[in-house]
Order: sequence, then structure tokens, then C-alpha cells
Amino acid sequence: MHIAIPAERLAGEHRVAATPDTVKKLVAGGHAVTVESGAGLAAAQPDAAYQEAGAVIAADRAAALAQADIVLTVRPLDEDGIAALKDGATLIGQLNPYHNHNLPALAAKRVSAFALELLPRSTRAQSMDVLSSQNNIAGYRAVLLATQHYPRFMPMLMTAAGTVKPARLLILGVGVAGLQAIATGKRLGAVVEAFDVRPATKEQVESLGAKFIEVPMSEEEKIANSGVYAKEMSESYRQRQGELVAKHAKAADIVITTALIPGKPAPKLLSAEVVEAMKPGSVIVDLAAETGGNCALTRPGETVRLDNGVTVVGQTNLPGLLAADASSLYAKNLLTFLGLLLTPEGLNLNLEDEILSATLVTHAGQVRFPAAD
Ligand code: NAD
Repeated sequence: MHIAIPAERLAGEHRVAATPDTVKKLVAGGHAVTVESGAGLAAAQPDAAYQEAGAVIAADRAAALAQADIVLTVRPLDEDGIAALKDGATLIGQLNPYHNHNLPALAAKRVSAFALELLPRSTRAQSMDVLSSQNNIAGYRAVLLATQHYPRFMPMLMTAAGTVKPARLLILGVGVAGLQAIATGKRLGAVVEAFDVRPATKEQVESLGAKFIEVPMSEEEKIANSGVYAKEMSESYRQRQGELVAKHAKAADIVITTALIPGKPAPKLLSAEVVEAMKPGSVIVDLAAETGGNCALTRPGETVRLDNGVTVVGQTNLPGLLAADASSLYAKNLLTFLGLLLTPEGLNLNLEDEILSATLVTHAGQVRFPAAD
């Protein structure tokens, strides 16, 4: 098979979908790999490293994609990228399925496109789970971003000049990113508390040495949120949650919000009034900035210091800030996923396989996933 890795086109996207390490394995498996020149540079992987691993370097994207049976990406291809694909090619990446308006264009080219955001959260899929590998990085990086803007120490310090209190860190949303943010905050010496609508997260929060903030829930609400993903909550729950979150946010020095509901706008957890009542010098890092933000005052892609001295960080694509490790983990996820598709005889698209079936968004000329808007 011919496998191609184009350079990412989105501004600020420094990741790449294959590393010399994964290229070497693909080449050893008898595949021909082409990498667009410069694709890995921002992730600390120059062309020469790919060449040494057995890849051919193509001068531009069109040349890289022209022969490709399989294309690996980090982000969705733009129109020009889709036009450069071979008819019937296979495309694998984070294809933003809920909001990707180019799925019909992919279907028109009879592309089999796999959106890895749709991987089931099962034990079998864990080693290919790009959301986990990338959100883990986002959680870590969010705490470091917060420290950059926070004008105080994180740990408690006892010095001859006086004692410094530890920072109070509040994490809203305890999925993969939230858990890593808790662990990173603890390592830096902060006092950490966290909140999530899924009651199952209490034990995970406590096992990391943080305090779980509990909103009283009815039995029906507990059952509704016993799945892997959070559901949209009732108005009455949102009110109880809002009051409790407001109280803890006002006492916090740093708030990291990570709450997401797949395919829906991010739930608003911090209102403008709450942010206005926070302490001067405190920092909010909103990991949900790309899907509307958990904080009412977040501006996606921007960092703003408000008049009350609170900084709101709306940086998007935090995994892209740690591009080398993010790419390395992402590329390994992709290699494992490819293992489901590649056989010595070629591509085996077995739609009985729940992982392939769940992620396949276009195939045989059809769009298989409903776009949300
Ligand atoms: P996510 O990125 O979809 O959401 C982040 C967190 O925000 C979630 O914990 C969610 O419950 C929470 N949230 C949503 N609305 C909220 C609200 N209004 N207030 C507070 N919190 C809110 O989550 P994720 O990191 O992708 O993890 C989702 C699930 O997948 C978790 O149950 C996780 O344990 C599970 N998981 C399973 C596997 C696996 O078995 N392969 C791997 C990774 C994650």
C-alpha cells in the first residue's frame, strides 16, 4: 500500500500524523510511505529522519497524495487536500465529524474516511484512543499555561522572608484532561479540588489526593450520568451546580475547565458574574474554548486580562503546544488503528468490526455520519 502523510495546514497546528518510528514500522510491513517535505519539522522531526526511516519526501502536498491509497492526518483535509486525493483512497485522522461540512466531498470521491474522535471508549480501542492521548497532554499543558499567567507560587513555601500559601486549583470536568490537570497541579504543590457531573469520577479524584466537590444528585440524575460520557443536565441540577461552582471558583486561584459533551456546545460552568467576583491575579484556563468555552468570558484563541485582574486563557489546541510528544503518541494510536485495516493482501475493511464501523464516516460514495449543523 502507498501511505501518505501531508503537512497540516491549520494555523498553529504543529503536530504530524506519523513519526520516523511509525514510518519505519510501516515500511518494514512492506508499505511505501511518502511524507510531504517539512511535515514533521515543528514536531522535532526533520525530513532527513523520515528518509532514514525509509520514507520518500514529496516536495508538496499534491505530490504526496497523488499515489496514496491511505492518507494519515491530524486535522480534516481542506477542499484542496480532498481534491488532491486519489478516488477511493482511505483517509484516517481527527476529522471533526460533528461539524465537518466536507464529508459529502469525501463521499463524492468514494473516500473511506475514518474519524478517530468516534472511537468507542472500550478496552480494545484504548491503544488507538486519540482523544485520550491528546487530552492527557492538554490537561498537563493547561496547568503549565496557568502558571505562566499566575503571579504567585504554586507550592507552599516557608522562607526567612515569610510563608507563601499554596495555590488553590479548581478543576471543572474530570475526564482524561481533568485527571492529568489534577495530577500536574498536585506535583507542583497546589491544593486541588475538582468537580464533574459523573459521580464515578469522585473516586478517581480522591485517588489523586484531590478533594471532590459534590453537587447533591437525585437517583435518576445519577443513573443518567453513569455512562462514559456526560449528558446535558436539567435546569434544576444546573442551578444547584452553578451555586456550588460559584462558591469554589471565588475561593480559587486557578480554575481549569475541561467539560465537554460530544457533538454539543460546551456547557457553561462559569458565568460572567462569577468571573467578575473572582480574586485579582486568579487565572482561568478554558480547555473547551474551541467548542464555545465553559466560561462566559472566554475568547477562543486569546488570553485576556479583565479589569478585575482575572486572566482568562482561551488558547486552543493545547496538544499542539507539545507537538513532539503529542505527535509521537498520536502516530502510535494511528499505527495501532491501521493494524485493524492492513493485511498482507491489502486493505481489509471489515464493517462487522465495531471500531471500524463506529469511526467510518464516508464510504462507497455515502456519508455515514449525520452532521450536527
Ligand atoms: P470529555 O472530554 O468528553 O469531557 C470531559 C469531562 O467533562 C467528562 O468527565 C465529563 O463528564 C465532564 N462534564 C461534561 N459536562 C459537565 C458539566 N456540566 N459539569 C462538569 N463536568 C462536566 O471526557 P473524556 O476525557 O473524553 O472522557 C470521557 C469518558 O471516557 C470518561 O468516562 C473516561 O473515563 C472514558 N474513557 C474511557 C477510555 C477507554 O476505556 N478506552 C479511555 C479514555 C476515557
